[in-house]
Amino acid sequence: MSDPVVRIGFSACFMHADPERALFKGKTLLYMENSMARWAMRNRAIPVLLPLAADGFKPAELVDGIDGLLLQGGSDVCPRTYGEEPLKAEWGGDEIRDLYEIALVEACLEQDKPILGICRGCQVLNVSLGGTLYQDISTQVEKSLVHRDWDVYEDLHHELVFEPGAGLSDLYGGRETGRINSIHHQGIKDLAGCLRVEARSPEDGIIEAVVLDDSLSLDPKHKGRYVRGVQWHPEFIEKKDETLLDPDPLMKDFLSQVRGRRA
Ligand code: MN
Repeated sequence: MSDPVVRIGFSACFMHADPERALFKGKTLLYMENSMARWAMRNRAIPVLLPLAADGFKPAELVDGIDGLLLQGGSDVCPRTYGEEPLKAEWGGDEIRDLYEIALVEACLEQDKPILGICRGCQVLNVSLGGTLYQDISTQVEKSLVHRDWDVYEDLHHELVFEPGAGLSDLYGGRETGRINSIHHQGIKDLAGCLRVEARSPEDGIIEAVVLDDSLSLDPKHKGRYVRGVQWHPEFIEKKDETLLDPDPLMKDFLSQVRGRRA
């Protein structure tokens, strides 16, 4: 028997109003990336794109209509969202999207809806829960690895080492290392107090996966919650590739938590 279908809210990527754009001139577009939608669907989840709460709707009411939340990748997080000024204008990120996603995260914590954050989504989780980011790994972290290369995009890969005892490594048969793609220039700097590191890039120590650990928090909204973020893009690993971590155990674990709360 196949798994029951669930509805996963996707946080939207924003294309803000652009008076120069040929189509939808001056209009704001919200979108989902298609590999992400396929990753969810082949594991029996229907993606539901969540709009900006408007016209009397609160984020909590949007979250009422979904079973879990997936934070998509995309633009940078605005440094102001975690109390810094952008060191360069091009690192200013998308503050509107930050606030929209943080409100969704808070509503999901309140309602015990599982959350999975991908790339930017992992960073948004850390910031939502009180952490900070490197605005630019290559200039702020000494001897850092290249974590983003536009020319090769998802074909840029690097090693990953699981922290001892990480639940994430259990999803991969308890293995200690893996290989992943890398398309990010921001990364977690100060880790939020309630998050635990599950994996790092071994060469430079950059955090590549986090999970909420309620034993680190006194907040009742964190008790028993499922919140995980990964810095890579599992959804772009669509062809069977034995050299890279299989994307599906991650999605299946998230969805089993979602289904468990609906049963
Ligand atoms: Mn990386």
